[in-house]
Amino acid sequence: MPSVRDQVLLAGLTTLGVGGPARRFVRAGTEAELIAAVRDADQRAEPLLILGGGSNLVIADTGFPGTVVQVATRGIQQAAGPQADAVRLTVAAGEDWDGVVASCVAAGLSGLECLSGIPGLTGATPIQNVGAYGQEVAEVITTVRVYDRVTGEVTELAGPDCGFGYRTSMFKRDSSGRRVVLAVTFRLRPSELSGPVRYAELARSLGVPEGGQAPLATVREAVLALRRGKGMVLDPADPDSRSAGSFFTNPVLDDAQFAALQKLVGADVPIPRFPAGPGQVKVPAAWLIGQAGFGKGYPGPGGARISTKHTLALVNPGGASAADIAGLARTIHHQVRDQLGVDLACEPILVGLSL
Ligand SMILES: Cc1cc2nc3c(=O)[nH]c(=O)nc-3n(C[C@H](O)[C@H](O)[C@H](O)COP(=O)(O)OP(=O)(O)OC[C@H]3O[C@@H](n4cnc5c(N)ncnc54)[C@H](O)[C@@H]3O)c2cc1C
Repeated sequence: MPSVRDQVLLAGLTTLGVGGPARRFVRAGTEAELIAAVRDADQRAEPLLILGGGSNLVIADTGFPGTVVQVATRGIQQAAGPQADAVRLTVAAGEDWDGVVASCVAAGLSGLECLSGIPGLTGATPIQNVGAYGQEVAEVITTVRVYDRVTGEVTELAGPDCGFGYRTSMFKRDSSGRRVVLAVTFRLRPSELSGPVRYAELARSLGVPEGGQAPLATVREAVLALRRGKGMVLDPADPDSRSAGSFFTNPVLDDAQFAALQKLVGADVPIPRFPAGPGQVKVPAAWLIGQAGFGKGYPGPGGARISTKHTLALVNPGGASAADIAGLARTIHHQVRDQLGVDLACEPILVGLSL
């Protein structure tokens, strides 16, 4: 039987530590309970929020005026892939993501190692196509099993049909939350070596050329060390990790937008950028935020602040409210837009809040 409670405070269930109560709260420990809880909320025509590890959510201080279903399903199955050099790992939505990555590294399965240290649950990884240090889950997801709230059916979506893009997918684009992820299947390669290391900072710290390889466990440790240096590994002793990760995505600019930005900052100022497809470049949001006058540790209202380690993370070192975090985010967003003409997009999901 799922556990059902009223007025459960959500702040303690999010990594930012903000958010008021859920009117109704259901913890679903099995796939059947998860589907039943979602069906029940839909039959009552109640607003529904699926909660994983709460690491990509900013929930309003007024809480959630409906049912919050916390995913607590478990189970990992391994099968041989269609090709001899691959295995398929099917992981229940409620499995802790970093636990899955750690067990793959220990078992000599390559494909997820650069995604070490990302908080949250496996079922959320397809939502924003979780990525870091040159890897993203879209590269290794073969299928996503979902409960479709419109048809009432459970279906398997092939990876290429999930509309994956940079920190997005069709799941994230669909604000109605039509599909509830039940399980994700990954195609991994049995190997003691990582895939090609594409991220320059990681390659440097491993002492390999870009595109080179390194032992899986070494890559995991290097990624964790880099992440810790930025407050990007959850650590109760590190107030800078009390965040929702990066608060803004890196904007993709077309040639005209980039030329306009260059004009605004001055022709002699080099703008860091990465290729993002024909006629497009990705500009680091952290650089834009710095350029607009915000530094590490910049104070916002109520104790909310920019991380002292990473300009892209907004943190609640303790005592800040959702309104304080949103207020700081709004100030940054507006100033970047007004000074640099770039409209930064929020990476976390805002619930009952807007910028
Ligand atoms: C310190 C820190 C570092 C981070 N670093 C990274 C990083 O490097 N790369 C990166 O991509 N992200 C990063 N994140 C963001 C976050 O960890 C990921 O987006 C993660 O996948 C969110 O998982 P979650 O279980 O916590 O999801 P939640 O925050 O609980 O939910 C996020 C969204 O997904 C929906 N959702 C969750 N589970 C399901 C499901 N089963 N079915 C349907 N919808 C669902 C929720 O309704 C919500 O809309 C970081 C966050 C923190 C706090």
